[in-house]
Amino acid sequence: MKRPRVSVWVLPDQLGPSHPALERAESEYGRDRLKIVLVESEAWLDRLPYHKKRRVLILSAGRHRAEALRGEGYDVDVVAADDDLEGLKRHARRHKTDRVVTMEAAEYDRRVQQRSLGEALAVPVEVLPNRQFLVGRFNPVPDPEPGRRYVMESFYRSMRRHFGLLLEPDGGPAGGAWNYDAENRKRLPKGHNPPPVPAFEPDPITRQVMAEVERSGQGVGSVDGFDLAVTRADALAAFDDFLDHRLAGFGPFEDAMSVEHATLHHSVLSPYMNLGLLQPLEMAEAAEARYRAGEVPLNSAEGFVRQVVGWREFIYWQYHRQMPDLRDANSWGARRPLPQFFWDGVTDLACLRHVVNRLIDRGYTHHIERLMVVCNFCLLAGVDPAAVADWFLTFYIDSHDWVVLPNVIGMGLNADGGLTATKPYVASASYINKMSDYCGGCRYDPKARLGPDACPFNSLYWSFLIRNERTLRANPRLGPAVLGLSRINESERAGLTATAERFLASLREPTDGAPN
Ligand code: SF4
Repeated sequence: MKRPRVSVWVLPDQLGPSHPALERAESEYGRDRLKIVLVESEAWLDRLPYHKKRRVLILSAGRHRAEALRGEGYDVDVVAADDDLEGLKRHARRHKTDRVVTMEAAEYDRRVQQRSLGEALAVPVEVLPNRQFLVGRFNPVPDPEPGRRYVMESFYRSMRRHFGLLLEPDGGPAGGAWNYDAENRKRLPKGHNPPPVPAFEPDPITRQVMAEVERSGQGVGSVDGFDLAVTRADALAAFDDFLDHRLAGFGPFEDAMSVEHATLHHSVLSPYMNLGLLQPLEMAEAAEARYRAGEVPLNSAEGFVRQVVGWREFIYWQYHRQMPDLRDANSWGARRPLPQFFWDGVTDLACLRHVVNRLIDRGYTHHIERLMVVCNFCLLAGVDPAAVADWFLTFYIDSHDWVVLPNVIGMGLNADGGLTATKPYVASASYINKMSDYCGGCRYDPKARLGPDACPFNSLYWSFLIRNERTLRANPRLGPAVLGLSRINESERAGLTATAERFLASLREPTDGAPN
């Protein structure tokens, strides 16, 4: 019997060292019958004015993976197309494909499209489970009840137990506690210089992609200074550098923010993890090994493991649990457009100015700036959650639908009715002042609530509590914050509300929409 010609579709965020569809197809049909196809879909790359460095990262990492597979002796077809389907059709026609094998997409829309791909291509299509996430191998919440809230902490502990991470011989948590967050809220001391994140010189493939992206004119930011890893070997080198130089200080300073240091002790590995170049379990195990070897403290190793197998997997799980409704979730009824300064960084609010300018330049800020500066501001100011999510997708080099929607709409803006986070993460200027050195160089006073110099975070924060007092009082996790309201009399309440409204009225909206 004639053996079929098989195409293995590798998606642009499935660039890991092993791919279940490739393994399956090779063992079943033989390497000589295989063609690997990667599609560079314009529709996917241009849905939003994505940061130019993000475009370079994705395209260059895909082309490098294609080269690596060719080097291993595979036949690889890289197709530039209007969209995935058009590219796959063209490929299938050209190579007379009899069947397609692929791995489940991380993104909802693509996953839906994969279900009807066989019909669209008129050949059998086999879609294998996604193995880039650990929840595909073990699910701490197998049958979630609709509308029920699940807490990340329980999810995380189940993952630790299942994968045997940071456990004592009796099965309890290493060091006797599951969580060392209380040790991980230090401000960066003056004169402390965190080790830099390694830079990778663009090779000819990357330089070619940079030129193409520049020529296209699409996207915010610039390709200049692109120095990200685009291969697994370089991503592993970046990871080793983190383990050697920054993991030890990661825990204590993971929530700190600094004018001078954008990355502090953060790993800056999410762009690589989200393309499959690094695997979550190998990373968690390596961090644990450094702790066991006495090279890093437990609070740092645990803080990192929590991010990788707790937060990240929980976010991915929430995304698939809540889609497609999550995209339109807006439980606080927020309708305000994003202010213009989110696009050009021109604002007197020093914290937001630093964050937005960092994004325009590098496409990266760390998690606390995302949560407690950007999302905090947008939730307090009542900015439309879908607009905030699109902005995150546009600017961040590590952004993907599956991470941005639950992290921004769910966790950051609490717009999903509290399914992702049990409380809204709102804070006044005192939090930003405590955890950063931004306020010292700001024209606003972080301690003032009223008057022309009062920090807008303060009036926005208090007016948010005033406006939503009844709802917030019902949330036990917000009790202490709302209790502060009882110390504010009626006239001060009116003053705070009026100050917040004046500030919001002064915000400039983009005149002609988001730039391309
Ligand atoms: Fe941000 Fe307010 Fe501090 Fe200025 S004073 S940096 S606006 S928190």
